[in-house]
Amino acid sequence: MDLKYVISQFLGIQDIIIEDIKLFKKDLRAVITARQNKKHCYCNQCGLQLSNTHEWIFKELKAVPLGIYSQVTLKYYQLRAHCDDCHKVILAPTDWIHPQFRSMTCAFAEHAGRLMEEITCEATARLLHANSKTLWDLDQHRMEVMMKYLSLPKNIDISYLSADEVHFKTIHPKKRTSIFQKRWEPKFITNLVCPTEGKVLFNGPGRSASSLAIAMSVLSPGQLLAVERFAVDMHDPFIMTIKAKCPNAQVCVDRFHLVQAINSAFDKVRRQEFKLAQKTKDEFNQNMLEPHRRFILISKEKNLSKSELKLLDKLRTVNQNIHTGMLLVEYFHKLLDKKTITGFRKALQTWYLVVRESKLKAFLELSKTIRKYRKNIEAYITSRLTTTVSEGLNNKIKVLKRMGYGYSNETSFMRKILQRCGYLNHLSINTDQFYFKWPHP
Ligand SMILES: [Zn+2]
Repeated sequence: MDLKYVISQFLGIQDIIIEDIKLFKKDLRAVITARQNKKHCYCNQCGLQLSNTHEWIFKELKAVPLGIYSQVTLKYYQLRAHCDDCHKVILAPTDWIHPQFRSMTCAFAEHAGRLMEEITCEATARLLHANSKTLWDLDQHRMEVMMKYLSLPKNIDISYLSADEVHFKTIHPKKRTSIFQKRWEPKFITNLVCPTEGKVLFNGPGRSASSLAIAMSVLSPGQLLAVERFAVDMHDPFIMTIKAKCPNAQVCVDRFHLVQAINSAFDKVRRQEFKLAQKTKDEFNQNMLEPHRRFILISKEKNLSKSELKLLDKLRTVNQNIHTGMLLVEYFHKLLDKKTITGFRKALQTWYLVVRESKLKAFLELSKTIRKYRKNIEAYITSRLTTTVSEGLNNKIKVLKRMGYGYSNETSFMRKILQRCGYLNHLSINTDQFYFKWPHP
């Protein structure tokens, strides 16, 4: 096989004549000079072969890495020629130049796009010697194009689904768009999760009834009827949507969502006690109840170090409300382990009693909510659904948010979730053709 032919194949480009290849071993760069093959140039209006060369247009393009040569530049001479039929000078079309990002080949764009399915734009930019802002734009563009091809795998088991909301960002009161918006306003995204597959199927902005309805729009009417169990938060808008769309589904409030609720109740107590400690200048309590320490307070004993346990013990002896709050959290975990309804109900009665005696407002509110949704919680106790998938996905999404996608817009964050945790990637959508010709959005 001809070496130049092989190289053009490796680069994912065609209809060219390679004129020169320069390798710079010192910094592993390659510069390839190529000219468009006149024999394969046709008018994009009438299809006539372009023969009369008018001029050669020079372009410098980023091309895919070739083996150890990670930085490959393509110096390309594109034909401008006269079409005898159309009576005008036109630029001979070149499919393999990216139509939007004109400084790169389609192959380079797809190569970068696949990397960004796994790692950050910044990391990809370092690996490919490219500008991270340009790559960020490319990633957005590619995800938008791929949205058109998004579909669920055939034979997917959707008998058990879960609706999980994630915090997206909190809008600062100074940046408010309306005068009525006075407080910090948290923004959410609702994800439709298939725990059996461990994937986010689709999502919608916000946490309203319509947010979940948008997320569920990815399911066909037949699939909606086939849902048997639906795990949710103690959140009426979601439950309304599920009842309306999936008449055969049993609505369960599962452990994942209950643990989120109890942790947030405990955190309200922690914040209150922290403020009190600030007022009374109680240094020990202030240190122990600082926001970045809140995870120590709610993590399981076996995950803590000896010194952490010692400090925690001391805190519990000096701060009654924190001690009671921790007891309520611990006991709550135990009652969720109950295997039978009667065992669960008995334990729940005891928990209610301790909550009442504690007089802690956050827990009193939570116990009201739990009373309201008791039947749905019992549905979880009998179903014994596992919620490790929701927990895992939730952590993965938190990492995504921390990596910076959370600071950009809602749509890009939603798509990134579908790409990393769902089916909006080349493993589910065949994008092999993108290497050679970019589809129009
Ligand atoms: Zn023509």
